Amino acid sequence: EVRVRFAPSPTGFLHLGGLRTALYNYIFAKKYAGSFVLRLEDTDQSRLVPGAAESIEDMLEWAGIPPDESPRQGGSAGPYLQSQRLDLYRQTAQKLVESGHAYYCFCSPQRLDLLKKEALRSGQTPRYDNRCRHLKAQQVQEKLDEGVAHVIRFRLAEGVEPFQDMVFGWTHHEVAQVEGDPVVIKADGFPTYHLANIVDDHYMSISHVLRGSEWLISTSKHLLMYGALGWKPPTFGHLPLLMNKDGSKLSKRQGDIFIQSFQRDGILPEALLDITTNCGSGFNNNHMGRTIDELISEFNPSKITTHSALLDLDKLPEFNRIHLKQCIEDEAQCCLLIKDLQEQIQRAFAADIQDKEVLHEDYIRRVLHLRKGHISFTKELVSPSYAYLWVRPSFSSQQVAALTTEAQHIASLVLKLISERGEELAVDRLNKDLKTVAKQTRATNYREVMKLIRLTLSGLQQGPSVAEMMVSLGPTEISHRLHKLLL
Ligand code: GLU
Repeated sequence: EVRVRFAPSPTGFLHLGGLRTALYNYIFAKKYAGSFVLRLEDTDQSRLVPGAAESIEDMLEWAGIPPDESPRQGGSAGPYLQSQRLDLYRQTAQKLVESGHAYYCFCSPQRLDLLKKEALRSGQTPRYDNRCRHLKAQQVQEKLDEGVAHVIRFRLAEGVEPFQDMVFGWTHHEVAQVEGDPVVIKADGFPTYHLANIVDDHYMSISHVLRGSEWLISTSKHLLMYGALGWKPPTFGHLPLLMNKDGSKLSKRQGDIFIQSFQRDGILPEALLDITTNCGSGFNNNHMGRTIDELISEFNPSKITTHSALLDLDKLPEFNRIHLKQCIEDEAQCCLLIKDLQEQIQRAFAADIQDKEVLHEDYIRRVLHLRKGHISFTKELVSPSYAYLWVRPSFSSQQVAALTTEAQHIASLVLKLISERGEELAVDRLNKDLKTVAKQTRATNYREVMKLIRLTLSGLQQGPSVAEMMVSLGPTEISHRLHKLLL
């Protein structure tokens, strides 16, 4: 049975890198009819960010990749918050101590600090010298009885077995040489990441660990712990890094890659999922416009490469344009867009709206269908160049006079053809009709006719094609606006 997990630390809000890790886990789970678990690794209590835990789960739901089991959803392998599983880590550490795979360490922070400084002074990487490995059982007991502050360290065996990573192939890292024995239980009784992570993956029956490649070097250490506990490890797959298109580290500085800021800016979740997978690997072909179902069916884990995924956020509006079109074409999603636009229109124009008809969902739906494929964001529709859709324009008789002396005649010709066409306005047809209108005037040419109608309908001198404007506004609103020329 496939069981995967996304295991963020709630030390910050969900960003694009995290969303991508979650997404690959999600599509892997769905592809193989497995479960996607969200586990919050909140053991570093000093770094917790208030609200982050809740928000991470909110964002996964918003993105359309909700976990099957999570702090909020619950599930049979819970609790899903590490701070609620402390006994399990302590018991496991105890087991390791009893079997000789772990030991109490009473080294003071001052001593460790000194070790570190000495190493750095002589140009070496700081490394714990494993001194407390050699304490006798009696010495340990005495110190414990005295209540001396302590941690528990895992005794790293020399010489690690290579393991086969789903992405990086055969891999191993000589951990013992580099770091010294790692802490598994801290002085405050909380586990470190390494212990809690493997204990949970084991007890939550995780079959595959798909995580960022920054964890690759920790995996040998994790495998030594699995071995010491006599547990079968999951299969590991490390995802290449997500980077800016110039190969630099993905910045979090302006808060620009946090999922909440994309949400606030009107980016659709589908567009975010699409751009993060399109810049990476794991698919036979990359193409824009993939839905989550297509991501699942086209996903091919054996195609994940070790190359970093270079993200070009400048392309995001383009991805959004394509997914906005798909949303508009889906009636259920379109209804949500309409609700949102109603609010945007009211916020933007409030008192200037003379006719409440423009807030009617049929009117907004028609506008959306006409503009789909052209706009990347619905908020474009409340920008000044689209204000005419919602607010009746103002213009002066001088402006009209500057264009033609036949305004009344032209208005009545257009009104006539509009009433003949009924509700069925179409751009091509209107373009032909308007040419005919121009021919029926005495001294106004086609360009002037168009300018006059544009001015009357929108108050604008330039802008979208007159026929498109007419189709968006519809016959009733066109008549209303043209009647002004007859006064
Ligand atoms: N808590 C770790 C993180 O924040 C989890 C790493 C893992 O998936 O093992 O990324």
